[in-house]
Order: sequence, then C-alpha cells, then structure tokens
Amino acid sequence: MKYTPETPAPADAEQRKAIKPLVCYSPDTLPPVDTAMLARARASMEKIDTVVVPPREAECFSVPKGHFFRIVSTDGPQVGDLNLWNAHNPEERFYSGKTRALHGTHVSTGDRMWSTIPYLRPMATITHDTLDWYGWDEFGGSVHDVIGTRCDPYTNHILHQDHYHHCCHSNLTRAYGKHIGDYKRGEFLVHDVMNVFMCTGFTLDTHQYFMKASPVRPGDYIEFFAEIDLIGGLSACPGGDCSSEHSSDVAACYPLVVDIYRPDPATLEGWSSPDVNGYDGTHGMP
Ligand SMILES: [Zn+2]
Repeated sequence: MKYTPETPAPADAEQRKAIKPLVCYSPDTLPPVDTAMLARARASMEKIDTVVVPPREAECFSVPKGHFFRIVSTDGPQVGDLNLWNAHNPEERFYSGKTRALHGTHVSTGDRMWSTIPYLRPMATITHDTLDWYGWDEFGGSVHDVIGTRCDPYTNHILHQDHYHHCCHSNLTRAYGKHIGDYKRGEFLVHDVMNVFMCTGFTLDTHQYFMKASPVRPGDYIEFFAEIDLIGGLSACPGGDCSSEHSSDVAACYPLVVDIYRPDPATLEGWSSPDVNGYDGTHGMP
C-alpha cells in the first residue's frame, strides 16, 4: 500500500512519471516451445495413473520427464495450490517469482514453470488450459496466478490467533513430508505455489492482492508437460472456490484429480530434457 505521501513531489515529478515502461523480459527472447512436437505427443498419449486429492488435503504425485499431467476439476469449483520438485533433488523446486517475471502474473498455455536458482530451467510447460478464454476481467483479475504464496497457519495465527491445520502450507507439508519421510524438512521445502484455477489480481486503485470466485467448473483442466522427472504436490485449498474466505472449514470444498499421461515415445523425437542452468556459478570469485 502507498499511503498519503509525506515527501513533496519534485518539480519534474510529472516528467519522471510519464516515462514509458519497458517489459523486462520479452517472451520472444526465451528458448522456444516446440509446439509441433507437443501436439504430436498429446495426440498419442494414454492415461497411466490417477491421484485424487481430497478436499482440505494435499497429495503428492510422480510424473516422469516426457510425460504429461492434468489437474482436473471434478465435483465442483475448487482451487488448487501446486508445488513442484525435481524428483531426484528436493532443493530444485518451482520458482514462482522468476516464473512471474518471465511470463506475467498469471500463466496459461505456452508458459513454463521455472526452477529455483542455481538450477533455473523449465520444470514443466503448460500445454492446455480450458480456462484460457477467461483472459482478464474488468477488475484486473485472471486465472492461474503466480503472485499468491499459499494460505498458511502462521499468517492465519497473526490475524486470528487460532491454530488451523488444513491451510495449503500445512497440507503440502504433510504430503511432501510423508513423501520424503521427514516432515520437518518437508516444511522447509514447501514453496510459493502456482494457484491453479484461482481467480486473483491486484485492485486497480490501491494495487492490493484480491481473490474472487473461481470460474472453474467440473470438466475443466490445466495440462502440463514434464520437462524433468517431477514430484508434484497439490492441495485442495480450504478456501474452495475462494469466493469468501480460506484458512477455515467454512467454504464448500471439493476434490481435485491429477491424471498422468504417457505419450508414444516416438513422438518425442528431437526433444531432450533441459540441462541445469549454464551459468558457471563462480559469481566472479576465483
Ligand atoms: Zn490455500
């Protein structure tokens, strides 16, 4: 929030503010997505596994590189909080901030999920989004953000002084902690999420983070191509469609389904899993 300023504006304030902005990272400068290969692979793929995420819980799922996964709305409008880890190295995980800088505040088909420094490479590419029609609404809102963090019991405790255990942070901590056999370490490896199906934005006047009822309906899905071997964690947020509140048992909540698909390997010809980042890592030190 920018409250009423205390500092007088300089004489050239209007000139300084009138300078036109420059997009920091043009999408044209990023490594291209091979859309023809992905279309061939999608046309050949078969479902090999399904994981059901119960309401107000999280589950982990495994996706080998070169496979696809879909997050599907089934029973009612429900938002999901998604984490991704390298299946062989939990410290390489989804980097929401850099993904936002590269692709914008909300992501859809053709955008990539980037991993943390020093690995910084595509972990997954979004290959289909049945909510891409939504675009932007009159409030500046859109779907599938990488601006939120995840609902968590610590913020909730500051605001309400209670102990709620089914925030997405806690759900992901239990699910990933169980997966790696270490709940304490699991909590530190849970990270800022992609808010699947969530409709959010910043208010046009004060630029505060807002949420509103998700437009998702049963049958909608978002689909990803795994660029590396992945472990995914998905929490069915206690906020349900996030039309009223989260961090409580008040909202109507529904399960989410994750389907894993294997394409015909012949369709992946010409594709290779991306290497970790090519920077030499010395930071200029001998
Ligand atoms: Zn949540």
